[in-house]
Amino acid sequence: MPRYSALQLLRHGVRRGQFPRAWREHEIRPRYDVVVVGGGVHGLATAYYLARNHGIRDVAVLEKGYLGGGGSGRNTAILRSNYLTPEGVRFYDRSLELYRHLATDLNFNVMFSRRGHLTLAHTDASLRTMRWRAEVNKLQGVDSEVVDAAEVARLVPPLDVSTTPRYPVLGALYHPPGGIVRHDAVVWGYARAADTLGAHLHQRTEVTGIDVEHGRVTGVRTNRGRIATPVVVNSTAGWSTLVCDMAGVRTPVQTFPLQAAVTEPVRPFLHAVVVSGTLHVYVSQTDRGELVFGGSVDPFASYSMRGSLEFAEGLAAHVLELMPALSKMRLLRQWAGLCDVTPDFSPIMGPTPVEGFLLDVGWGTYGFKAGPVSGEAMAATIATGRTPELIAAFGLDRFARGELVGEKGAAAVGH
Ligand SMILES: Cc1cc2nc3c(=O)[nH]c(=O)nc-3n(C[C@H](O)[C@H](O)[C@H](O)COP(=O)(O)OP(=O)(O)OC[C@H]3O[C@@H](n4cnc5c(N)ncnc54)[C@H](O)[C@@H]3O)c2cc1C
Repeated sequence: MPRYSALQLLRHGVRRGQFPRAWREHEIRPRYDVVVVGGGVHGLATAYYLARNHGIRDVAVLEKGYLGGGGSGRNTAILRSNYLTPEGVRFYDRSLELYRHLATDLNFNVMFSRRGHLTLAHTDASLRTMRWRAEVNKLQGVDSEVVDAAEVARLVPPLDVSTTPRYPVLGALYHPPGGIVRHDAVVWGYARAADTLGAHLHQRTEVTGIDVEHGRVTGVRTNRGRIATPVVVNSTAGWSTLVCDMAGVRTPVQTFPLQAAVTEPVRPFLHAVVVSGTLHVYVSQTDRGELVFGGSVDPFASYSMRGSLEFAEGLAAHVLELMPALSKMRLLRQWAGLCDVTPDFSPIMGPTPVEGFLLDVGWGTYGFKAGPVSGEAMAATIATGRTPELIAAFGLDRFARGELVGEKGAAAVGH
């Protein structure tokens, strides 16, 4: 693959040639060392770090639709590491660190934009949780602090911080390193880099069965034939329980739809990401000027990816409580994706009782930001046969041991 550079762009402009395709199509081999199921950011990052960090290149990523067609192409791309547990904070902070250098690593502009992230507190109880989070964050070396309403108004002038609203803003957890990224670019960047290093990316290839003999994986069955392999990674997020069923592995995961919406573009005026857990809404402004909104998952488990009028109405009402000046803005579109939610709002990563069948699931509404660190950690798990310390707390066996990593207070609406 040629490197993208200003010179390349100039040459391309002068010659008016076609850029080569970002990744190639390959014949499916009858056997791979590693098969990753799911062509989202997690599956692609795993393939990339397997090749880059460990020299394991005989890897196939199998995607039933198109790369990034799942949550990775539908999310609102908020990045942050201000979680509630030390395990969570350390883990997401490593991801943020990888995101900071991702454009250079992948030779692909992922449009990472550090904006600052504000989680609003509307009650004394949420202010208490913010203080708790701020202390946990600081102990892990992560920049977070509780700020008062006047500082919130300074950081986000369009916010109504008067005492008039039903839920007045009392303060916020301010996390300067938080921001946004361009989700498609992250997916395409990982895909291009993984392909360049030798991984095979097979789109329109659905895994329909997993062969297990004497307690270990021997291969996968797909709509395009059988593939032998000793290692299968389940990176299918909202569909993960269906793939787990194929291997006979049970997980406490439920799938819920999550909706989001975007407005027409306007001049930049909102520089931070603003989240209100109480009002179930969050908003950021893209580099192109659109406002991107999201909220909580739909209140029922489902595989539906349809938007609903109820969501749009609720969202508009809540956004206008925060920023009444937006009342004239028009929504351009809304959409939904699937979220694989665990009981403690932390992921499930690492080995299962079936040898060779690994999980990278349970990403709920917050897994896009974890793509880089998850890929790095899953690749290390496969290459070394050992679970890295960074993800040791996220094993499937924690549910049997009752050692949950409770992140609900920091992960639910916050994304
Ligand atoms: C509206 C919305 C907003 C969100 N906002 C944020 C946010 O701001 N920040 C954040 O960090 N996270 C956010 N998330 C969550 C985030 O999108 C996901 O956690 C993340 O993208 C999961 O990535 P993944 O690679 O694990 O899964 P996905 O990107 O969902 O990829 C899984 C892939 O597996 C494929 N697949 C499924 N079954 C099979 C099979 N049998 N065979 C082959 N392929 C299969 C699917 O087609 C899919 O492409 C949001 C999610 C949604 C829906």
